Amino acid sequence: MNAFSFYNPVKLIFGKGQLSKLKDELSLYGKKVLIVYGGGSIKKNGLYEQVISILNEANMEVFELAGVEPNPRLSTAKKGAEICKKEGIEVILAVGGGSVIDCTKLIAAAAKYEGDPWDFVTKKAFPKEALPFGSILTLAATGSEMNAGSVITNEETQEKYGWGHPLVYPKFSILDPVNTYTVPLDQTVYGIVDMMSHMFEQYYNNASNTPVQDEMIEGVLRSVIEAAPKLIEDLENYELRETILFAGTLGLNGFLQMGYAGDWASHNIEHAVSAVYDIPHAGGLAIIFPRWMRHNVSVNPERFAKLATRVFHVNPEGKSVEEVAHEGIDRLAEFWASLNAPTNLEHYNIDESKIDLMVEKAMVNGEFGNFKKLNAEDTKAILTASL
Ligand code: NAP
Ligand code: FE
Repeated sequence: MNAFSFYNPVKLIFGKGQLSKLKDELSLYGKKVLIVYGGGSIKKNGLYEQVISILNEANMEVFELAGVEPNPRLSTAKKGAEICKKEGIEVILAVGGGSVIDCTKLIAAAAKYEGDPWDFVTKKAFPKEALPFGSILTLAATGSEMNAGSVITNEETQEKYGWGHPLVYPKFSILDPVNTYTVPLDQTVYGIVDMMSHMFEQYYNNASNTPVQDEMIEGVLRSVIEAAPKLIEDLENYELRETILFAGTLGLNGFLQMGYAGDWASHNIEHAVSAVYDIPHAGGLAIIFPRWMRHNVSVNPERFAKLATRVFHVNPEGKSVEEVAHEGIDRLAEFWASLNAPTNLEHYNIDESKIDLMVEKAMVNGEFGNFKKLNAEDTKAILTASL
């Protein structure tokens, strides 16, 4: 392992009926609250009403920012920050999926900043303070509910970047599997692909001697692979929703990334694709990740073979390490296809016409990836194989 420090201050409140904790948790931070949510799913499934009645009961003064986009936009975060400044908001409550929580993180920091919040995303400036916020998660996927990362799209410049800062950890996150029952089939699958991708990004790391971490990642992956096909047939199954929800949080709350940095090249390439085409994050990952694997399998075939045997149950008998490694990658691609995740960029009508632009966006900070540094040529090869 590499030397590491671990820090995660998020209070995780998990389980059926746990919304009852909202009043006490939020009241710690003030009376003037801004609720941030997306395109209306929480109004359809009744969660909005439940939240409002709890806030009323707590005598809170409530302001709202609705309409956070999937792939949340800079302009929306700016709107939120304006409300915070104008109304003297004391605490923010994100109710939604990763997009709503990511947007809230930028709002929280921007509310205490006089410059352009895009400065934080591009790392031209770093927050010195931020408003406190909590989240009620409604979609299992990103881990944003228990990390300090955020991904924001600048729609004017067609740029989408991740940023993060310790000041934007949620103070608390409430996760009730019941609140994820209404996530439609396609978003449920995207969530599964995203959390699995987070685990792969961490599995393909730059460290040696990580037997404990390997077991943890392999174990969480196996649980997801077992639950996912059942869940897509039974979207309101409490236990399956619970397994997937917990797996998504563990997938990116830092627990699986102690002792190494993880790779994160596939995420970087996907962000370039969805910056240009505004496609769902995990739709892009389902296409790109198996291509990244095939492109890099020769870097350390033993590592890929380990994943193949321990997670995808490939029988290694009579096969070379390379054959086992490739079979594992094929099984991953087949598994995602069996869930109806997209398999080619063509699915989104993406052809080769803007590949160079996507490569340029992926390369904006130079070579990237920790398992193997990728240059423009590698990136182009992976994107071309993804068409
Ligand atoms: P999302 O973009 O937050 O939500 C996707 C869709 O699902 C929205 O249309 C949303 O509708 C709907 N939805 C959410 N909960 C629902 C529910 N309970 N019932 C019905 N519909 C529901 O999806 P996400 O995958 O969680 O977040 C994706 C974003 O996170 C991307 O921008 C990605 O780049 C980023 N990301 C962040 C991290 C991180 O660590 N911060 C990691 C990976 C990815 P409404 O709009 O109506 O709510
Ligand atoms: Fe992701």
